[in-house]
Parts: sequence; C-alpha cells; structure tokens
Amino acid sequence: MTLMMSVSGVRGIVGDSLTPELAVRLASAFGTPLAGSTVVIGRDTRPSGDMLKSAVQAGLQGAGCRVVDLGVATTPGVAVMVRERSAAGGIVITASHNPSGWNGLKFLTAEGSALTARQASAVFARFRDGPFAFASHDECGEVERDLSAANRHIVRVMQIVDAAAVRRRQLNVVLDSINGAGGASGRMLLEHLGCQVTHINADAGGRFAHGPEPTAENLAGLGAAVRDNGADVGFAQDPDADRLAIVDDKGRYIGEECTLALAARSVLSKTPGPVAANLSTSRMIDDIARQFGAPAVVHRTAVGEANVVEAIRRHHCVLGGEGNGGVIDPRVVLVRDSLTSMALVLGLMAEDWRPVHHVVDDLPQYVMVKEKFDADRAGLGAWLERVRMSAEGGSINDMDGLRIDWPEGWVHVRGSNTEPVARVIAEAADDRTARALIERVTQLR
Ligand code: MG
Repeated sequence: MTLMMSVSGVRGIVGDSLTPELAVRLASAFGTPLAGSTVVIGRDTRPSGDMLKSAVQAGLQGAGCRVVDLGVATTPGVAVMVRERSAAGGIVITASHNPSGWNGLKFLTAEGSALTARQASAVFARFRDGPFAFASHDECGEVERDLSAANRHIVRVMQIVDAAAVRRRQLNVVLDSINGAGGASGRMLLEHLGCQVTHINADAGGRFAHGPEPTAENLAGLGAAVRDNGADVGFAQDPDADRLAIVDDKGRYIGEECTLALAARSVLSKTPGPVAANLSTSRMIDDIARQFGAPAVVHRTAVGEANVVEAIRRHHCVLGGEGNGGVIDPRVVLVRDSLTSMALVLGLMAEDWRPVHHVVDDLPQYVMVKEKFDADRAGLGAWLERVRMSAEGGSINDMDGLRIDWPEGWVHVRGSNTEPVARVIAEAADDRTARALIERVTQLR
C-alpha cells in the first residue's frame, strides 16, 4: 500500500512495495516506445540505488534501449545529460526527500523535463497492462558509463552567474548535502565561485544524517554550523539535489518559499521578463515581479513541475519554480535545480554586499499556513462549489482546485494527486489573518 504513483514518478519502500521486479517492469514500460534510442540513468546515494539501477538497466536494455549509466547523479544532472547525450529520455533512481527506506523512479522527457500527467499515465498504463515489446538477442541495448554529469552541469550553471563578482565577495558558505547526490557537484560549484566551503553531511554513502526533507527542524545543525563558522550563508540540498533551502548569516532558516523569491530577484534584476509559479506558491513572487515592471508578469500554473515547465515554454519565461525550494532556470535545464538556485542567490549577494539577512528582510513578509483534510472527489467538488459561491470580492483561479486572492491574502484548496485528501494553503501578512482565511473555507466543508 506504500507504493505511490504520481505524475512525479513512483516511490515505495524498498523490499516491500518497491521490488526489483517492479523496477524492471516500470523501466520496460518507459523504454518500450523508445526502443533503438538512448536513455540516460542516474541514481541518488541510497544504498538500495545500486540494486534498483541494475533492474532499471535490465528493463531498458530488454526493451531495446541503449543505456548511458551516469552512476550517482542528481536529478538536474541527469536532465542535463539527457540533453547533452541527445537521449530520448532519462530515469532518476531516487525517492527525493523521502526517508532512506524509500526509493523510486523519476522519469524525464527528451527535453530533460518532468513528464506531463498524460505522459506519466501512458507509462503507468503500459506498466499495468502492456503491451511490452522485448528485444531479440541481437537487439538488446548496450550500456555505456559516463561520469561527466557533474562537470557538464556546472559548466551550464556557471554561464548564468557573474562568477568574477561572486569571487570578489569571498563568501564563506556552509553546504549541507544530506549525504545525497548533490554533494560533489554542489561543492565543486561553490569552489568555482571562490567560496570557502564548510561541507557538512558530505559523505555520499546515502545514510542520511538527519531527516532528508529540507525543513526548519531538519536543518537545525546547518543553522548551528553557519553560526559556529561565522558563515555568510548556509545551503541545504535534498537527496536528489533539485530543491534548495537557505539559512541566513544568523543561522536562521528562512523558509523554502524564499528560495524562489531570491532567485527571482537575482534573475529579474538583470533580465526582466515573465516568470512562472504554481498556484500554491507565495505572493512574494508577484510583489517582486511588480518591482521590475511590465515585462515581469507572473504566470500561475497548476501544481506539478511539468505544468511550470509548460508555462515557461509557452510564455518564454526567464524563470519558473515552486514554493518548495524548486527553482527552474531554462538557461540551465528544465527541471528544478539546487545548483542553479545557489548560483542565483550568490549572484544576488555579489550585487548587494549587506549581510544576507538584510536581503531576506527586504523580501515581502508573509505567513503561510498549510492544512490537510480528508476529502474524496465528490465531497471535494461540492465543497469547492460552496467556496466559489462565497468568494465575493476575491479573484478566482480554478485551473487546479480553487485559489481565491483578496487584497489581505489568498487561499488555495485542491485535491491531492496521491491520496484522498484536500490541501488548504493560505497566506497573509500575519498568522491570524492566514488562519482566518483557512477557517473561512473549511467551515464550508
Ligand atoms: Mg527532490
């Protein structure tokens, strides 16, 4: 029952819901329409990753795909290599921020981006019902090893930052890589940018030193390390290094919503243009865009990385992302990328030499409150209708559940893609107003 299949991939508990047999079948389902093409695979550092890699590799080869094995690699690193190797797709073996007993597969398109809902359901339909087309003895795919993902990824990230300006600041940075896949490339990037790096939880053995989700309570050690070292900033990656959380020079966790806000300030100050963010992302992005004037409009999307990417493409956005510390800069790669995020934040610090807590304090200040309620499809639909009817004075966006914006704040109600629950998020200038907005919609349940 712990196997989670969603548009962002498959996750399960190794040896329980996630078995080698299942991984072979998933990889073959993904690989069958790609027979004769190249598929790039990489894995995070979890000890189960090697076993799953063998299974995924066999599934792809058996379906007739050539495999490029990147070894341990980050999700954005695999995405970069899909492009660099002109592959037809990619598979990342990771359960992202889930605990170490979990693992999973994330699928990438030929563009190196997350699958759309439609593409993901096609893979899952084939996984369940077939048909599979297995290759004959002389058509099985070959395997090649390529360990250049970190280097090629860094080359791309270096192109979006004024490296000389960052080097002049001689920043002292603490990096917490949670023993994940991003440690090597994260450290290398920071060193290229002239930072003095204190690297904690750097061992890539995949035994996570703290809870792997980059939340405030899991990053207490990073805050302490920033204070002990008198560092300018602290960065925390998740195990597949697509998300980034930040700790300021006082050792204060600033919240993942601020990662996208700082990245947006960094990009828009040089290239004002449209940005994309999902409906659950903070209003900070709208305020920041407004500071930069007309070209910097915000395109809101349904929740899900592929929806943000689609908006980036359609509206030629200069940046996109999600409030969970996921920043997408299309100049680098079309997936969330902690290295891109670090480079953009450091670029901002190279322009504004004040201690970073001043830069953070300059961001628009909001409080976000998140709640979760049991709700089946039918119940949710009726509830949303009542919420819509009561939304007087607010502006309504119904592309994914219902988001209502009032001058004093907003609330977003949507059904989860993975469990029979509704998520309710509200944001306002203070906690009391945000909770009142939650109450306003939950009393209509
Ligand atoms: Mg992740």
